[in-house]
Amino acid sequence: MPPRIRLEDLDLSYFDGRTVYDHGTECLIWIKAKASGGYAYCGISQKLYYGHRLAFYLKWGRWPKEAMHTCDRKACVAWWHIEDGTRGQNTADAYARGLRRPRRPESMHNTHLDWTQVREIRRLRAEEGLTYKAIGLRFAIGENTCRYICIGKTWKE
Ligand SMILES: [Zn+2]
Repeated sequence: MPPRIRLEDLDLSYFDGRTVYDHGTECLIWIKAKASGGYAYCGISQKLYYGHRLAFYLKWGRWPKEAMHTCDRKACVAWWHIEDGTRGQNTADAYARGLRRPRRPESMHNTHLDWTQVREIRRLRAEEGLTYKAIGLRFAIGENTCRYICIGKTWKE
């Protein structure tokens, strides 16, 4: 039996090993179970929490009314990308700060990948038939980046 996790004992290190850091967008992408909407799903003391809400709580010590992603990536649990506010407010804020249109994943650098990962990406596609999107989430790269790798447009052997 794994040790029982209690919410009050948690801190942000909870996300270590359960996320990958995306250097391109500074997102912390959850790689464990996801809710149907694509949000991180964290089971703690037999309760389920959305990862982005949990991140906000662990950082600020209170639950957000409505946790919003400034990066528009639902699987992101980076507390610096989570804001509390009403939908309208948040969107306005995001526009004001020029965050409404985050860099497209296609334009992201994928220099954090190495050959082992590239081969794993190709294997997941070829042998397990995962979608580019699913693989991309796992490696914190864009869908197109993933496709280019799989068709050999980038990372030529
Ligand atoms: Zn993010």
